Amino acid sequence: MSIKSSSYTKKVKNELVQMENEKFCCRWAELAAIIHLRGYIILQRKVPVLTIIMDSNSVARYVFKLLKELAVTYPKILHRQSENTLHDYFIIKIEEEVVLKEIFQRLEIKNEHNWVNMPGVSEKLVNNNCCRRSYLRGSFLAGGSINSPESAYHLEILAEYETYAQIIVDLLQGFEIKASLRRRENGYYVYLKSAEGIMEFLRVIKAYPALLYMEEKRVIKSLKNHTNRLVNCDTANLDKISKAAHQQLNSIETIEQLSGLSKLPLTLQTAAKTRRKYPEASLKELAELNQPPLSKSGMNYRLKRINQIAYQLKNKT
Ligand SMILES: [Zn+2]
Repeated sequence: MSIKSSSYTKKVKNELVQMENEKFCCRWAELAAIIHLRGYIILQRKVPVLTIIMDSNSVARYVFKLLKELAVTYPKILHRQSENTLHDYFIIKIEEEVVLKEIFQRLEIKNEHNWVNMPGVSEKLVNNNCCRRSYLRGSFLAGGSINSPESAYHLEILAEYETYAQIIVDLLQGFEIKASLRRRENGYYVYLKSAEGIMEFLRVIKAYPALLYMEEKRVIKSLKNHTNRLVNCDTANLDKISKAAHQQLNSIETIEQLSGLSKLPLTLQTAAKTRRKYPEASLKELAELNQPPLSKSGMNYRLKRINQIAYQLKNKT
């Protein structure tokens, strides 16, 4: 019924409700999305009652404000705690007939006794670009959750009904944001996984502090990755150098013990001496240190020959 928000999601929503929509059209679009995603019509003694369930105190107060201004009503807000999860949630209850009539009319809810048979989103509600943004904003406030940008990039909006999930996907598409839709046991999830998609979404719903924070973290993340790559690369190289040098030194030792270095061709003797003198030198350095200096591939060839000879000598005995 309600989603459990992470503290980061709550933070983003708190920031979002600080910045109110100014236009009347947008405020209705926002409220519509909230009711579509978290509104339930129940019958109390055969009379319909609209309840809106939110998991955040600040968003619940914001919905209260919207209702007060748009529908001139002061609904009750009830604070509840789930027995299983001890998770707080807030129920906004609208009972006045005249207020419900106005809301149902705006949202084009025709058969108010049958909530399952829900209408789509009225064209009028999302006709303007400003209202389409607001509808998305309302959807996020009602059913959205977002990961902190320090962890994996993820933003999702839960809608119980496929109709509304699909509308969110379509609206996002209109802003060139590609979203995926997945059915899970408690409803339909619209989700964004790419950093670009999430940042664009935050821009569309005007969640500017969250957007800035994400941009900042993303820069730091990419710098970190870059440094890590450099460090890894250096370590890998060092490992390779020392492993190769280690093997060459072993081979030289083997040859010395089994046949004597003097049995080697002069060019290989010199290469072996150079390696012994400079055990930590890279191949390139070694080639330059050799007397006479060699090309890297020339040095490589000689050291390989030394390894081969050592191998042959060892396998003879
Ligand atoms: Zn508007």
